[in-house]
Amino acid sequence: MSDEFDLIQRYFHRQYDRSDIEIGNGDDCAVVSVPVDHQLAITTDTLIEGVHFPVGTLPERIGHKALAVSLSDLAAMGSVPKWFTLSISLPQHDEAWLSGFSKGLFALADQFNVALIGGDTTRGPLSITIQAMGSVADGRAVRRSTAQVGDDIYVTGTIGDAALGLKALTTDLELPGHHLYHCQQRLDKPSPRISSGIAASPFVTAMIDCSDGLVADLGHLLVDSGLGGVIKTSRVPLSESVKDYAEETKDWELPLAGGDDYELIFTASPDNRSIIAALPEAVNCPITWLGTVTTHDGLVVLGEDDVALDFSAQGYKHF
Ligand code: ADP
Ligand code: MG
Repeated sequence: MSDEFDLIQRYFHRQYDRSDIEIGNGDDCAVVSVPVDHQLAITTDTLIEGVHFPVGTLPERIGHKALAVSLSDLAAMGSVPKWFTLSISLPQHDEAWLSGFSKGLFALADQFNVALIGGDTTRGPLSITIQAMGSVADGRAVRRSTAQVGDDIYVTGTIGDAALGLKALTTDLELPGHHLYHCQQRLDKPSPRISSGIAASPFVTAMIDCSDGLVADLGHLLVDSGLGGVIKTSRVPLSESVKDYAEETKDWELPLAGGDDYELIFTASPDNRSIIAALPEAVNCPITWLGTVTTHDGLVVLGEDDVALDFSAQGYKHF
């Protein structure tokens, strides 16, 4: 791209006055300092137009979401986000698009004090790859595979808002205006649960972020821990929007399997109940008890009258 340098300068070159950034954007490599007695947590994600977001999605939303999904992964390890790189492939030199994209990107980056320290800019189909890095005290990164039998299962925030927003966008489902606004905000501008992840991490046994749906991601945590679990639909935290929808339709698949929530799911010993109960006030985010880790295989989801629901391949059905 002949004007690649110019584009980078204008939209992605940021200078930071930070002692942990020795060399930022502009040289062959960035050079950063990991705090003493800390380790680096690293995650990467690619968003491709037409695959991960519909053609024509507002650039500001793409900028926000591209970073948000990676920050959510850092949150799930209990790490503090510090730096990220951005590799972007653009079909054409589109100033309006770049301006919107960088606005959405940096609004979120600045909110969490995470610095853009480098990247790559090429011409091609629209695709965005972000690698985000965070720090975590030596040996304290929280895995998804270390839940214990008898642990409590918790989730942050509310579940299903993004899935309902997507449904309203792609089907003839009509939502009242305020519900539509809420759900689309949750779909387009997920809020990575950084402070919840950091605050909870010393007291949890395992943690994962919820991007593929509550049932799938809690399932991953349990399977990777070699355990099972039982949760109740009546416990799942729902916004007014999703509550109205679920009560009317009895469609539990949408909130529980929908995805794009970017909440945190974690397990903790019952000994830590009072500590976990005090967290929501400290982090300004609800944390809800969902159920219990068990020895049996897989996740059991109990619906009305404690009847188990099936979320297997064929989709959701009663049995
Ligand atoms: P090189 O050829 O040495 O890889 P580039 O010309 O690709 O360098 O990039 C020049 C500088 O601009 C590098 O420091 C690189 O990290 C940075 N950079 C390139 N693209 C981006 C981007 N999209 N966002 C942030 N920094 C970028
Ligand atoms: Mg390069």
